[in-house]
Amino acid sequence: MLKKIIAFGLVFFVSFFSYAEIKEITILHTNDLHSHLLPHIETWISDSREVGGFANLATLVKQHKLSNPNTLYIDAGDYFSGPYVSTLTKGKAVINSMNYLGLDAACIGNHEFDHGWDNMLEQMEEATFPILNGNIFFEGTDQLVWDNPYTIIEKGGLRIGVIGLHGKFAFYDTINFQMTKGIEARDEEEYLRKYIDELKPLTDLIILSIHQGMPGRQSSIGMTDVERNLYKDILLAKNVPGLDIIISGHAHQGTEKAIISNGTIIVSTNAYTTELGKLQIKYDTEKRKIISHSNELITVFDDEIVDDADMLREITFWEKEVDKIASRPVTSTTEKMVRAYGKESNMGNLFADAIEAFDERIDFAVINSGALRQDIVPGMITKGDLISAFPFPNTVVMTKLKGFQIIKIFNHAAGMTNGILQVSKNVKYSFTPGAQVHEIWIKGNLIDNNAVYWVAAPNFVTQGGDGYWEFQNAIEYIDSGVIIVDAVENFLDGRANYVPKYEGRVLIK
Ligand code: FE
Repeated sequence: MLKKIIAFGLVFFVSFFSYAEIKEITILHTNDLHSHLLPHIETWISDSREVGGFANLATLVKQHKLSNPNTLYIDAGDYFSGPYVSTLTKGKAVINSMNYLGLDAACIGNHEFDHGWDNMLEQMEEATFPILNGNIFFEGTDQLVWDNPYTIIEKGGLRIGVIGLHGKFAFYDTINFQMTKGIEARDEEEYLRKYIDELKPLTDLIILSIHQGMPGRQSSIGMTDVERNLYKDILLAKNVPGLDIIISGHAHQGTEKAIISNGTIIVSTNAYTTELGKLQIKYDTEKRKIISHSNELITVFDDEIVDDADMLREITFWEKEVDKIASRPVTSTTEKMVRAYGKESNMGNLFADAIEAFDERIDFAVINSGALRQDIVPGMITKGDLISAFPFPNTVVMTKLKGFQIIKIFNHAAGMTNGILQVSKNVKYSFTPGAQVHEIWIKGNLIDNNAVYWVAAPNFVTQGGDGYWEFQNAIEYIDSGVIIVDAVENFLDGRANYVPKYEGRVLIK
């Protein structure tokens, strides 16, 4: 008994007088979920094993939170737009499913605006987890569009401030301008400083969830690429002191190892629910800082994880809701249709050809590579497949341009900042990636600088999206109001089958 009293006294003495404590916190993170409610094949991971899906993610998050209660889960935006369930419900299915993910906070990404900012607000109202943004305002006012710049979460006795921001450049670079009329993004750096100042006295740790940087592309391997793609985050951390962690979205670029910039830990995952990021930190309460960390990207293999039952019920509900439209057969194909960012793709050819055929005045059509989001597998092609392939409600626009303007447009494509242009059968071009376009042939003839051509493209591109500003100087501009997917459906309708093709339309020099 005496021994017990002495031992108890000793423990009490030690814990009373030594207030330095090491807290272990796990921060689960994702970004660019892009409405991948269901597991799917990502060929860069495996040709046969499905990955991702919200029901698998939900299970993983639950398991981690059970094994360490000092776990929080933060997402860095772009949950809308991907498989058709998002487009057909304007994101409602995604937000309602996210309510079962176990999220502690999420910021807003550019694709949350795909159906307009007013729709974004309507859908966000249904979220039962905190959604954060502190730098998108109603034009010319100090009124935040979504008035929730940060939140404070208590975990393991630590007060953790989480700020949500959207990169200003990414906002104007990647959102269809029609969808952001009346609202504006302001400098993320300025607002980050402001919120850090406000949060510093109230918190032990500050995390930024931000959507910015290089627009999403398929993941590339190697640290040089990672650092290039997350350069905006690296710079932001360098310029703004007082930030402990950045969880970044937009680049679709996983950080196997966290990047450190000015003492800030930067992490991100590859897109489409393929990975759950797991950042573990040790925080010294006396030094008031993180003393060590490790990051891991857990691949979400469907065959290794049991679906979360609540999530599965929610997903099944939404899939049923949209099934009538999504399962409508259009035509069939015996070959797979794939997408490419830096070269010709047979899916790009289909979409561009369909737009070219939209109106007989059109000389040729182009589409941005980034508009194509999901491959189409051999078999029946449904309306849902087409929507998943091109999930944006873009319309067909016809523009009258001079040859030299078209050259400018193709030079921007060749620069590869946002991927090349996929083109219709009437056009062929050669280019050097990252540099410039060499030759452009239209209907077999070299382009004439001063001749006038009718060029059709999605309204996202013709409004200057992905940096294609030259369309704004068109001599004539006609927005048909017809949704791209409907034009493609119309193009394919009535055909027993469609044969995807490669024709050497895009030549790399
Ligand atoms: Fe994205």
